[in-house]
Amino acid sequence: MVSKIMTSNYTIVEPSAELIEPPDSTNYLEFLERCEDVAWICYICNLRIPKDKVSLDHIIPILNGGANHIDNILPTHRGCNFAKMNYSVKEVLSWRSA
Ligand SMILES: [Zn+2]
Repeated sequence: MVSKIMTSNYTIVEPSAELIEPPDSTNYLEFLERCEDVAWICYICNLRIPKDKVSLDHIIPILNGGANHIDNILPTHRGCNFAKMNYSVKEVLSWRSA
């Protein structure tokens, strides 16, 4: 249920619990399957990701024209995702061998 509060200039929509979604429109169950596919291994640091520390990463950042599609999404640690920012995967993986 969505309740709308009208003010003179704005309509404030308060989402209820069932409307809360992951940060983008990717189906969350699809994302969990993706996590299982890669055995909860972070592709950036190659270590296992605790389920409560998982972050959804766009392999090709949306800003760089990446699709908001499950094929363009892998799980990472929140910290790794933060460190990656908008670098490309190629750049990020080059840090490993550096
Ligand atoms: Zn990591």
